Amino acid sequence: MMLQVSNLHAWYGESHILQGVNLEVRQGELVTILGRNGAGKTTTLRALMGMIERRTGSIVFDGTETIAMADHRIPRLGLAYCPEERAVFRSLTVTENLMLPPVLAPGGLSVDEIHALFPNLKERAGSTGGNLSGGEQQMLAIGRILRTGARMLLLDEPTEGLAPVIVKQIATAIRALKQRGFTIVLVEQNFHFASSVADRLYIMDHGVVVDHLSAAEAAAQPERIRRQLGV
Ligand code: ATP
Repeated sequence: MMLQVSNLHAWYGESHILQGVNLEVRQGELVTILGRNGAGKTTTLRALMGMIERRTGSIVFDGTETIAMADHRIPRLGLAYCPEERAVFRSLTVTENLMLPPVLAPGGLSVDEIHALFPNLKERAGSTGGNLSGGEQQMLAIGRILRTGARMLLLDEPTEGLAPVIVKQIATAIRALKQRGFTIVLVEQNFHFASSVADRLYIMDHGVVVDHLSAAEAAAQPERIRRQLGV
C-alpha cells in the first residue's frame, strides 16, 4: 500500500472539518475523490501534505507515519500537491518555471522528460506563464511538481474551468503519468472526467468518505454517484 489514511480528523481553528476519513491507495493506482462543494476534498489533500496544523488519526505514506510530521519534511518523502489555483510564475517562461523547483527526492524528472509527457510545454517553452492557456498552465503546474522527485501526486481539480477539448488533453496527460508509474490522487467535481481516468473512486460528504467504488462499478451505476453528489 502506498498510502493508508485511517480516521483522519482535521480542524481549521475551531471548525472540525475532517471527521474520520479512511482511504487507501495502492502503488501505481489512480484514485479520484469526488464530492460536492465543501465536502472536505481539498482539506484532505492539504492534511496529507501536513498543511493543516491540527490533525489527528493516521497517515502512512510508503511505510512512514506522517500525521505528526512537519510540513517541510513531507515532500521529501516523494509526495507532492498541485493546488487548484495553478501554481505557475506568470512572468517567467515555461522553461524557467520548470527549472525552479528544487529536487527534493530521488527521481525528479528532467525538463526533457517533462516535455515528452507534455508536448505542449515543449512548443511553448519560451512563452511566459501568464501567456499560456488555462490547460497549458495546468500542465506546467503538474510539470513543476514532477521536477521535485514526487512518486505520488495529489492533484486538486485540474480540469476546473477548462473547455472540454482541453479536459481531454489533461486526461491524456494524466493517463501518461499513470503509465509512467506515478501514483495519483485526483480531487474532482467533474464526474465524467473522474470516471474516465480513475481505477477507483471515493465519494466524500461532510468530512467523511461515504462511498467507494471501482471504475467498473462507477460505469455501471452512475446514478449511485449522482445521488451522492446531489446532481
Ligand atoms: P470545493 O470543491 O468547494 O473546494 P472541498 O470538498 O474541496 O470543496 P474543502 O475546501 O475541503 O471542500 O472545504 C471543507 C470545509 O472547510 C468547507 O466548509 C469550507 O468552508 C471549510 N474551509 C475551507 N478552508 C477553510 C479555511 N482556510 N478556514 C476555515 N474553513 C475553511
